Amino acid sequence: MPRTNGATAQPPRWDYAPAPETAKVSIAPRYDHFINNRWTPPTGPKSDAYFDTLNPATEKTLAQVAHGSDADVDAAVRAAAKALPRWRALPPTERAKYIFRIARRVQERARELAVLESTDSGKPIKESRDLDVPQAAAHFFYHAGWADKLPYAFPGRTPTPVGVCAQIIPWNFPLLMAAWKLAPALACGNTCVLKPAETTPLTALRLAEIILDADLPPGVVNVVTGDARTGAALVNHPRVHKIAFTGSTDVGKKIAAATAASPKRLTLELGGKSPHIIFEDASLDQAIEGVIQGIYFNQGEVCCAGSRLFVQESILDQVIRRLEHRMKSLRVGDPLDKNTDVGAVNSRDQLQRIDKYLALGPAEGATLHRANHSTLPERGYWCRPCFFTGVQPSHLVAREEIFGPVLSVMSFRTPDEAIARANNTPYGLAAGVWTDKGSKIFDIARKLKAGVVWCNTYNQFDPASPFGGYKESGFGREGGRHGLRAYLNLA
Ligand code: NAD
Repeated sequence: MPRTNGATAQPPRWDYAPAPETAKVSIAPRYDHFINNRWTPPTGPKSDAYFDTLNPATEKTLAQVAHGSDADVDAAVRAAAKALPRWRALPPTERAKYIFRIARRVQERARELAVLESTDSGKPIKESRDLDVPQAAAHFFYHAGWADKLPYAFPGRTPTPVGVCAQIIPWNFPLLMAAWKLAPALACGNTCVLKPAETTPLTALRLAEIILDADLPPGVVNVVTGDARTGAALVNHPRVHKIAFTGSTDVGKKIAAATAASPKRLTLELGGKSPHIIFEDASLDQAIEGVIQGIYFNQGEVCCAGSRLFVQESILDQVIRRLEHRMKSLRVGDPLDKNTDVGAVNSRDQLQRIDKYLALGPAEGATLHRANHSTLPERGYWCRPCFFTGVQPSHLVAREEIFGPVLSVMSFRTPDEAIARANNTPYGLAAGVWTDKGSKIFDIARKLKAGVVWCNTYNQFDPASPFGGYKESGFGREGGRHGLRAYLNLA
């Protein structure tokens, strides 16, 4: 029997026939580390040598993946250190050729990568197909173009590579985050050890196959899989020169503390609780669509998800009505179905965390509005899109990062109040402003403490545009010239 999570089942608004993605992707039963261009078995105790990666939509094991011990991390860092002198001495135009080759291979294998990403992460195929994979290719193309032009990026300075880069990434954009990290590091002449998240290692390992296929010299890119222990070993390795971390603020703080007394360079891309502000003069259809996209995209498992919505009081009722109407038209289900809008939550742990907040909101006095029209598959980790009204700024659902399809709706009367309330958070990653008035856009955007402010749009990404946070959302930028700076010493 399909599960309804206790919600009253209502018929879907349009009954589409399933449109499953038909490409079959091979997944090996077991994956080793990628060190020095070789598939290298783990060296840890046998009982702890491999762990399972699951399909969150079925809870079935997809493959076993090597668990990186201290010795595995050491082997990978040594391989990167050994490869560094030759890679950095290579003429930049030659480095560029390798990176262009990776970009082309990612494009050629786009469908396979998209299916693998959706299978391992739970995100809808239309997102991995239309955003993750094309953006990953775009990052390699963009940075390949910079490889022989670095002196022009920093006129009057002499850029040199930083050295061995440890790159640790989360589970919400596994392939794209790998591209965000590897592409600029390689273009700047560094060598890398990449550690994907434990629940989504498969596309990073497929990227390692592509790197092998692109003939990159041994040791320039190494991929070590594992959990927090593997990440910590990488952070603490004495031969690492730079750490680039994307993940939660809690772990970012631990890494900042662990590296505080060392000369290691550090950039942190952390959590968020990003606000949308809708003024009464905004185009409401456009704003609602942007808010829906901003919070329900990728099941809300997006660092810059617009999870707090501030609406001018005069249009609050209207916005709530339209939001509810649009939310109910979203399709939740099989990530490999091309009609699916909201896929599976990435893990059981993450679903439990979201459910905790869904119980907390009403206990604090907020009202839960939930799309409950569609039945959910029997197995897998699912959360229907929802939002809270009657939220106070002190409520935990309005303050803490939930990392799920959960929006908190609040109101404001004046622009100053909107700015004060939007900035009233320890985070500062992104924001959305919705108004018809250009002057208001510039005024508000200037006053918002957020690394990215989107105006009359949301979640737009481009490799040329720097991305990063303020306050507890981290420091450093990825993308554009600012992103290159993190991987260079400038004399
Ligand atoms: P997480 O911090 O739990 O894990 C991220 C990575 O760090 C994983 O690879 C994990 O194995 C590793 N790790 C865990 N503990 C570690 C330790 N002590 N030392 C070194 N490495 C360690 O985050 P997550 O749950 O995978 O991802 C969700 C978080 O990532 C959210 O908070 C989200 O906002 C954030 N995020 C931020 C951005 C951004 O650009 N700002 C982008 C994507 C995700």
